[in-house]
Amino acid sequence: MSIKFKGKTSQKFPIPKKMKAWVLGNPGELSLVNKIVEMPNKSEVLVKIDAVAICATDLDVISRGPPALIEGGLPFNKNFTPGHEYMGTVVALGPSVDEFNIGDRVTVEIHSGCGQCKRCRMGMYTSCHNYGLNYGDVNKGHRANGFTTDGGFKQYAINNINTLIKVPDTMSDEEATLVVTAGTTMYGLTELGGLIAAESLVIIGPGPIGLLGVAVGKALGAGPVILIGTRDSRLEIGKKLGADFTLNIKNETDIVQAVKKIVGEKGADYVMECAGTEQALNDAIMMTNRGGKICLAAFPHNAVKINIPHMVINNIYMFGIRGEGKSATHRAMEFMKEKKFDAKLVHTHTFNMIDLPIALKYARERIDDAIKIVIKPHNV
Ligand SMILES: [Zn+2]
Ligand SMILES: [Zn+2]
Repeated sequence: MSIKFKGKTSQKFPIPKKMKAWVLGNPGELSLVNKIVEMPNKSEVLVKIDAVAICATDLDVISRGPPALIEGGLPFNKNFTPGHEYMGTVVALGPSVDEFNIGDRVTVEIHSGCGQCKRCRMGMYTSCHNYGLNYGDVNKGHRANGFTTDGGFKQYAINNINTLIKVPDTMSDEEATLVVTAGTTMYGLTELGGLIAAESLVIIGPGPIGLLGVAVGKALGAGPVILIGTRDSRLEIGKKLGADFTLNIKNETDIVQAVKKIVGEKGADYVMECAGTEQALNDAIMMTNRGGKICLAAFPHNAVKINIPHMVINNIYMFGIRGEGKSATHRAMEFMKEKKFDAKLVHTHTFNMIDLPIALKYARERIDDAIKIVIKPHNV
């Protein structure tokens, strides 16, 4: 620790000079190294990371690069640590931070916007116009840990206080890592989508976002909530999280008609598309009713052909979501704290720090029906 540090620490939580951290080398190459533990500045705290979940986007970042953007380019061979869905304990406060105490358990949002661009001023800090501009002469102060700054596959991280959500004692570390995923669906359904009670909601794709989309949608009063997927095991979890109906595409000759049989000929009010395939996007368009809305929560890796004329003629809205804006994570946390749904159902595996490469393989290949995998960075 530098003697120049002007913030607060506590003997209860001694901070080592160095920590274990995974860093990204060439595409797909991770190595476990020692990194210096940096201390927090104004409006920041140091978080001892107690648990970090693996997200599908981490797999993309590690193997392909985007949406990570380090020093204005691809994240490879830049001593960069990925991982963005983490929680932990506050162990140091930057100068003048009084919003949190040392020892507070917190879970984190990914994005701390620049705070000065048009979108940040609207609360849409996940769409910050200065995304990735946080180095050298172009430093606008933007941070997205695990994308533009160091992430959570390490033992300590610096977080802006705006990215922290307090975790109640009754919530496990593993469950707390899921708040940002639930918050992302909350942002898509309410703040961006305007969902209100009694509107019909279809979720396509029972990954972590889709499953928690079901849970949040149901808790918000949507009805009926329909989950579409290809794996019965995941559809079963969707039922436990609040899906009124589940449809396995493999058993349906026409998925659009199957949805309409449930919600009526006119189609669904909302569709949250979490699969990211051309077929799923077109199915979403065809099952949405006139004036209805489609939230795009997954992205295809290539440009796709979709039925724009049908959307235009029918006044169908389609919008992308990026992450967890407008403090939606706080609302998601409130639901989880009140046990409106059991997010723990989505967590399937826990691994030690050293086993991150195995854990990533489990996530990529969905070994043993893996959905959400959590790493414990201090279990080395
Ligand atoms: Zn994620
Ligand atoms: Zn901004």
